[in-house]
Amino acid sequence: MSNRREQLAEHLKFFGELGVEGYRRDPIWASRPESADFQSLQPTAQTAESLSAIREDIGDCRRCKLCNLGRTQIVFGAGNPHADLMFVGEGPGRDEDVQGFPFVGRSGQKLTQIIEAIGLKRDDVYIANVIKCRPPENRNPDPDEVEQCEPFLFRQIDTIKPKVIVALGTFAAKSLLKSNDSISRLRGRVYDYRGAKLVPTFHPAFLLRNPGCRREVWEDMKKVRALLNDDAGPEHVA
Ligand code: URA
Repeated sequence: MSNRREQLAEHLKFFGELGVEGYRRDPIWASRPESADFQSLQPTAQTAESLSAIREDIGDCRRCKLCNLGRTQIVFGAGNPHADLMFVGEGPGRDEDVQGFPFVGRSGQKLTQIIEAIGLKRDDVYIANVIKCRPPENRNPDPDEVEQCEPFLFRQIDTIKPKVIVALGTFAAKSLLKSNDSISRLRGRVYDYRGAKLVPTFHPAFLLRNPGCRREVWEDMKKVRALLNDDAGPEHVA
């Protein structure tokens, strides 16, 4: 089988897993957004400098205790500095800590599938985390760690100015929205957030453990697609 055929088969399998039925009839397939072509992929010096200035400010960060708790390196974030769509996860895991990039392990593969399910590529989007250093044993980040790290994420968001932010999982959604509600309560709505629309959804790692939630993720991602295409009405906004 040709590589393209294998890729297509893999895509269709994943859409099936998400619970998508009748690919052609779903309006999501009727259009592909401008951002999916690569016109805007080349960073302008201005934005790229700005992100690199943030990275420089972080330096070899020693602002919180995670620097002494076994992290290998800072995982700043990766992707298109002009992205309309940004994903925010919790914090680096083991693979990310080793490689220095967000979402490169198993949950990263699932995230790539989710991105491709709405007709985009990883290179089209920007991916970051609430905190930039791996907590030991993948424990949840402590409030003081979030407090130190979060301003850098805010600066990344303000520099990239995405149209849509997807908060991946309970921790990211609760942190960004300053809420105590669970992801199940937070998802299903769209929030105004730092000039963007924020869509909370389940974390890819949770989806790997609970494939029954794929339909909800697919609903959330259809909403993301509509927001990127500017065709989600005000009734969607919480
Ligand atoms: N989980 C996250 O929340 N972020 C990563 O970068 C990897 C796994």
